Amino acid sequence: MKKIILRILVLISFISAIIILIIQISKTKQVTATSVENNVEPKNEVLSVTLEPEKPEIDSKVTDWDLILVNKDNKIPEDYQFELQTIEKGNQVDSRIVQAITQMLADARSAGLNPYICSSYRTPETQVDLYNKKVKQYKALGYPQQQAEIEASYWVTYPRTSEHEIGLALDIVSNNYRTLNEEQEKTEVQKWLMENCNKYGFILRYPTDKKDITKINYEPWHYRYVGIENATFMKEKQFCLEEYIEYLK
Ligand SMILES: [Zn+2]
Repeated sequence: MKKIILRILVLISFISAIIILIIQISKTKQVTATSVENNVEPKNEVLSVTLEPEKPEIDSKVTDWDLILVNKDNKIPEDYQFELQTIEKGNQVDSRIVQAITQMLADARSAGLNPYICSSYRTPETQVDLYNKKVKQYKALGYPQQQAEIEASYWVTYPRTSEHEIGLALDIVSNNYRTLNEEQEKTEVQKWLMENCNKYGFILRYPTDKKDITKINYEPWHYRYVGIENATFMKEKQFCLEEYIEYLK
């Protein structure tokens, strides 16, 4: 009888052991499953963040009228159309920028400064004349024709490659110092314009450190209208127009 009881006890403990083992295994599986889930979850989160489309920082298109790129490689389209309007002292600009330029000059004057527009819209004929004059100057200095043309192009762009021909650019100088050279940047007028022009939608089109890209010498007097948002964004990112257009593409 004792033997039978003993066998039963052994059997019971054996069965219990098996039950405990099964429970343990199932728990381990659960833990593994949970940990796998946990591992996968954050991965999914990271993936979803990566796949979310990048938010555009600025809502401008390269086809916007105020972002037209005119340079040595981008001639003014033959069918380009715009309306001219006369502002102070007989200067003409694209009618869409009249308010901006008028306000900028008025505010500069309110700040006690004396800006003077020395060039605005130019007819294609004027651009040709200016360019030929510059070539002549270099030839007088002894440059051969081809070299004179290249040197001239750093100052006066070839006809149909100047922003002055579309009325979106103005050369503004200090009335007290009308010479177009680097000294111009030291005038109070230029300091003010460089600091504030973006608030009116203008950029200094040919900055000193972008000559390699613009292919135009530093011109601390040539301002180009691009709109307030674009001008401010470009200022923040320190983009010249060529770089900004690439950025938007
Ligand atoms: Zn200019």
